[in-house]
Amino acid sequence: YADIAMYEAKKAGRNTTKFYQHKMDEWISRRMAIENGLRDAVKNQELELHYQPIIDFATSKVIGAEALLRWNTPKFNDVYPDEFIPIAEESGLILEIGKWVLQTALKQFVAWQKEFTGVIELQKIAVNISAHQFENSNFLHDVDSIIKKTNIKPSCLELELVESALVENLKTVSTRMQKLRDLGVSISIDDFGTGYSSLSYLKKLPFTTLKIDKSFVMDIQNDVDDKELISAILMIAQTFNFEVVAEGVETQEQYLFLKEKKCTYLQGYYCSKPLPNEQFIQFLRKNSVRYSF
Ligand code: C2E
Ligand code: MG
Ligand code: MG
Ligand code: MG
Repeated sequence: YADIAMYEAKKAGRNTTKFYQHKMDEWISRRMAIENGLRDAVKNQELELHYQPIIDFATSKVIGAEALLRWNTPKFNDVYPDEFIPIAEESGLILEIGKWVLQTALKQFVAWQKEFTGVIELQKIAVNISAHQFENSNFLHDVDSIIKKTNIKPSCLELELVESALVENLKTVSTRMQKLRDLGVSISIDDFGTGYSSLSYLKKLPFTTLKIDKSFVMDIQNDVDDKELISAILMIAQTFNFEVVAEGVETQEQYLFLKEKKCTYLQGYYCSKPLPNEQFIQFLRKNSVRYSF
């Protein structure tokens, strides 16, 4: 954003330079305020996880959730992960925040499993992991110790990585991933299709799940090419034995198309938006047999 503003400013000459300078000052001070606020967010207990249900296409059963971070701060009215997560990453604060997210999500998941024993078989808690965390030398140890502390079945944990976290040397990334897999956890590629990576990593990296980005799902109605693209992704996934989660499913048409194409799991507003813990538990109670579409 700053780069674009600077470029526009240079292009437009003096008067506009002032305008963009002002915009940039505003942007920089908001960014700094967010960074400062985030510094104490864990300590001040301003962080909260919302949970978005994940549904099995074949059975319509709720099989788990993705944990999504929310920041309740008195300093800003609306501040969403797309704005504050990149700042947490650049400032390194994501390490502390990410650890809190893992701990909280796993503890919560184990509590749900206990409450719904014999009623719902909850199999998955998906947690977003930033590149910074994945590359940090303590990460493997942290994951291992949180698994032991919470007593979660490791296969229930799915770590979500975006493609941009995988652009490093393929061998390094692969070794790092394999060590996590050796703990028994699953790994998914989030926002699949939006990154820069080549398809060759599909057979070289030991992950288990693809999450089709919502931008592809959203265009299913209008765009013949997107239908083709999703069909192709699902075919590749079957070849390599990956599970596929479709993100951002909002309409019946999208749901029916993906079901027909044998997509594995659904996540999206068509079923539910991300919910605070208490509401998620109510969702589980209400849909304990299966979700009715
Ligand atoms: P993501 O991991 O790809 O998460 C999916 C995003 O799509 C979420 O946005 C979710 O609320 C939204 N979504 C789900 N269903 C629908 C739908 O049907 N329609 C539309 N329009 N949107 C839908 P959210 O919660 O704002 O999070 C944005 C991004 O922030 C996440 O994208 C993820 O990359 C990042 N993020 C969130 N929580 C964490 C976290 O704890 N750690 C890290 N490192 N990143 C996180
Ligand atoms: Mg995700
Ligand atoms: Mg995603
Ligand atoms: Mg995303």
